[in-house]
Amino acid sequence: MHAYHSPERSAFHLKPVKYAGSNRQKLTDYVVQIATNSLLPVDVIVKELVQWPARNASLDATRRPFASGQHLALANAHGETARYWVDRLNDLTGRTDLEALTLLPFASVLRDPFGLVGRARRWCPVCLQDDLLADADFYERLIWSIRLVEWCPIHDVPLTSVCPNCQYRHCAEACRRSISGCCAHCHQWLGMELFRYRRFLGRGSRNCERERWIASEFASMLDLPDASLHKISQENLVLMLESGIDRLAGGNAKRFASICDKSASSVSEWRGGIVIPSIQTVFDMCEKFRIHLADWLCAHSNAWPDGLARRKHAVDYAPRRTAYLERDWLSIEKKLRTMANSDGCRLSWKQTAKMLDIDPSQLHAKFPEFARKISAKARELRARGSADRSEARRTMLLRHLKQIVRRMITSGINPTRRRVEAELTKLGVEYRWADYPLIAQARHEVDRAA
Ligand SMILES: [Zn+2]
Ligand SMILES: [Zn+2]
Repeated sequence: MHAYHSPERSAFHLKPVKYAGSNRQKLTDYVVQIATNSLLPVDVIVKELVQWPARNASLDATRRPFASGQHLALANAHGETARYWVDRLNDLTGRTDLEALTLLPFASVLRDPFGLVGRARRWCPVCLQDDLLADADFYERLIWSIRLVEWCPIHDVPLTSVCPNCQYRHCAEACRRSISGCCAHCHQWLGMELFRYRRFLGRGSRNCERERWIASEFASMLDLPDASLHKISQENLVLMLESGIDRLAGGNAKRFASICDKSASSVSEWRGGIVIPSIQTVFDMCEKFRIHLADWLCAHSNAWPDGLARRKHAVDYAPRRTAYLERDWLSIEKKLRTMANSDGCRLSWKQTAKMLDIDPSQLHAKFPEFARKISAKARELRARGSADRSEARRTMLLRHLKQIVRRMITSGINPTRRRVEAELTKLGVEYRWADYPLIAQARHEVDRAA
């Protein structure tokens, strides 16, 4: 930092402009404002103070965020990078609340940080202009960093990443000389009044219902009060799914998957907590069932539509009445335990459930451990059975082949593959191309015996 002579300073004192609600500031913009306030360029702050976390410390301790095309917007997301920046900046500024400038408070239910935040810097010119006209501190919002949000939830206009003055497209979240609210290229103000921005956009007549909806859903997610944040967890997400399966498909997960147009295996992975559904998938489901994103994340199971699917599938599907019967779970558990521990158990999980007259997914939800054991046993048995069958077939085929080859050789005919094939067909023996090596083996064995 020797090129910038400035008084020693212990820490930065800057309050984020807004750190709650849908209008909260984003962390990268906060860093930009720290830089501006301290009369330092942004890259000096980032390089010297917020050391870029290298994956392998010994290999590369000095990766440069601005030189190597790093994904700076990840600092606003919910992954490792964001965590690192928040910890470091909390130290530097003596604050404890900077996490709120990222998506970290929602980390437990969001999947891939790369998919969530876009690389480009985007803004709503009207929001910036409003700040200016209200004589308030202008700043850039966290919601503008979210890739799926293409619309300003307040002004009903699309976000932009192009400077109206010099047409420079801001492909990176921040640059070496960023100034909040100003173009990185020509340093002109990026705000614009609503009517001027509309005129600037021209007459685009595309249907933007979905963009509007997504923007307002994300805004309401960021608006969630702190008191609701503790409800956001992966376990709650699983509970939400379970209640959906219960309400829409009478407890049948396969049916639920087909209602949602998702594969049964994905649904089962979400239920098991192995994978979190991507935000795109969550939006698809929210849109389909008219559930608000905030309700989904907080697992408000009442948000599921009541009986929608049952009405819709009344013709081809009647939920099994048995799913609602009171059952003697103790004796069922005993039966399952016996089956799981006995070696003679040959039924698949589906057959087991059928025998007990219970929906397989309901039974699975109640006894996941037995389900795992019994399915594994059935699988093993099936595998053993199929190995035995293919061995028996091979032996039979080889016996036939040897007879044919021996007969041909004694009659002085060269046992070519085609001739042997013709003989097999005459005998009515089924064969496949995968059996060809057997013909060679038969020849070899007959030769050796001779
Ligand atoms: Zn706006
Ligand atoms: Zn510009």
